[in-house]
Amino acid sequence: MEEYSQLLKNLYGSMPEKKVSTERFEVPQAEVLIQGNKTLIKNFDSICKTIRRDSKKVSKILLKELAAPGSMQGNALAIQGKFSDRVINEKIDYYVKNYVLCKECGKPDTHFEEEGRSTILVCEVCGARKPVK
Ligand SMILES: [Zn+2]
Repeated sequence: MEEYSQLLKNLYGSMPEKKVSTERFEVPQAEVLIQGNKTLIKNFDSICKTIRRDSKKVSKILLKELAAPGSMQGNALAIQGKFSDRVINEKIDYYVKNYVLCKECGKPDTHFEEEGRSTILVCEVCGARKPVK
């Protein structure tokens, strides 16, 4: 838990603007459960709802980052292999930092727009447009 809040501090601390509203935007901690050789993120669906992203898209990036196959099981994401909650939360932070938070103003009010072959992260607050991988 402490490591996670430190991670969040680092994340927000590295933003150029310091006006990031953490009250309004808090990504829930992943509820990680290891079952045999699988890792379940039990609250995956609610995490995706909080960051306003499609769970399929989030899981695609997450699984790529973990280099493991997986699939949705109801509201949970089931991943092949054993991963600690620290690793899972790090990957979710990575996703939030790169695919949710605006690079200019640090606000989470963003969405994707397709522009030709690239995907653009569009900020609804300051209007910044950044291509994402
Ligand atoms: Zn912005």
